[in-house]
Amino acid sequence: MSNELAKWRDKHLNSISKSFCAAKWYNASLHLGHGYTNSCHLPLPHPIDLEAIKTNPSALHNTPHKKVARKMMLEGTRPGECSYCWKVEDIGRNSIADRIYKSKPYKEEDIASLKNKHWTEDVLLKTVEVSFDRTCNFACSYCNTGYSTTWAKDIENNGAYQKFKTSSAGAYYADGSWAEPFGKYSKDNPYVDAFLRWWPELSQELQEVRITGGEPSASHNFWKFLEEVKKYPSPNMTLAVNSNLGVSDKLIDKLIKASHEIDVKGFDLYTSNESLGAHAEYIRDGLIYPIWRKNLVRIIEEAKTNQVICMMTINSLCLFSITEFMDDMLELKTKYGWNKPVIDLNILRWPAFMSPLNLPNELKEKLHKKLFDWFEIHKESNLLSVHERAQIQRLIDYIEVVEQGHVKTEDEKELHFHDFKSFYEQYDERRGKNFVETFPEAADWYESLQVDYTIENVAVTTGHITHFENEEYEPDVIRKKKEGKPTWDAKASNVLADKIKNGTWKRVDLKRK
Ligand code: SF4
Repeated sequence: MSNELAKWRDKHLNSISKSFCAAKWYNASLHLGHGYTNSCHLPLPHPIDLEAIKTNPSALHNTPHKKVARKMMLEGTRPGECSYCWKVEDIGRNSIADRIYKSKPYKEEDIASLKNKHWTEDVLLKTVEVSFDRTCNFACSYCNTGYSTTWAKDIENNGAYQKFKTSSAGAYYADGSWAEPFGKYSKDNPYVDAFLRWWPELSQELQEVRITGGEPSASHNFWKFLEEVKKYPSPNMTLAVNSNLGVSDKLIDKLIKASHEIDVKGFDLYTSNESLGAHAEYIRDGLIYPIWRKNLVRIIEEAKTNQVICMMTINSLCLFSITEFMDDMLELKTKYGWNKPVIDLNILRWPAFMSPLNLPNELKEKLHKKLFDWFEIHKESNLLSVHERAQIQRLIDYIEVVEQGHVKTEDEKELHFHDFKSFYEQYDERRGKNFVETFPEAADWYESLQVDYTIENVAVTTGHITHFENEEYEPDVIRKKKEGKPTWDAKASNVLADKIKNGTWKRVDLKRK
């Protein structure tokens, strides 16, 4: 809980409406290789109208789908696609949802001005994340073929992953060919063309453009875009690049050189990792921890950066060494300053069987305690910002309280445990890995899980996203009541949540700097 953030939310967002979030107007992810967009990055992406962008490049962002969600937010209705935020807010405890973090980067007067805009009006972006194509040399377990060509090779060579009981595993059936409607290198892509046509105007308004992938440094479209950035000096804009920092020395050199050549307000480098050593190499297939860390240090020392951010995708397996990983990041912070690197914790939603909640209660309680104890020691550290501390606190709360992840229709833990085992068995075989050796603490539980091999095999799909949530959010408890299902599953119930209910769990009181 953060009182400062809660006060800010009440004054600048809830005064417009209790479901208001400025990110729906000022922020977008543009998946130009696919021709899809979402605002913010948390809801599922939906298609961009190819006809509309011919005459209006801002239609890359101002889609009819988003306009309906904006209307709901102006009226105080919670859009279903933003369930990530509503689940966090429904925890109670004044929990700080992403809508606060994602609205805060904008000027207060710009946020206030939105209440006077009609929901049908187009707006210019202030922060945007752009992906040109899915070229990537990694194939992380929680990623899929839509965002990685190396993942696509796995499916091409070995076929779809099989034997799943939940639809959240559906991404592993897909070859991701839907992500390449304009070929592997996304040449003559009308979405990229529209973006470059929009760029002269956009570059003068943007606070931040963030390039993601795939791995941008491995994409020719990224280097082409950087040439455009050089043409339009943008003194108010930060350029941020996501990199897995696992590419060749030549590309790291090129990235460092580019950071000194661009005429922008600042350059931020984002990378990803959330666990230490062998755990990281298991979760993020392609990563070699010492190389990743060496390149991280090179970027900090040699590139011209404002800040370097390490995004942590919080999945169940990272909990086994998340504290050791944060110790390693604190070591770098001690040497280079609090923002080199910043850690940014994002709780994984899909696939649900990798959720940090999807562990047996004993293990979850043990890992939760380890994180809780680590935070007790470090919560006063000047090396952790208010934002970082609030995110760690949020994760502690989340593991304690949220019994069910971000799954709407499949809340049976056994099904997710089944899919967990089924996925990692196949992942081990295809990638030459060994779950039991890498995570010995989870070995007994893992080995006790049985995969149902009688489940019929499925064919490879293209992976097209076809379900877009455009209705009002419905909390699980209300849905279950409507369906006549019990709202509390004793069998799957969480020991920690029981403690919360009994009032026997000790709360962390976060002291602010
Ligand atoms: S998911 Fe949350 S942060 Fe994202 S647009 Fe919706 S309300 Fe805003």
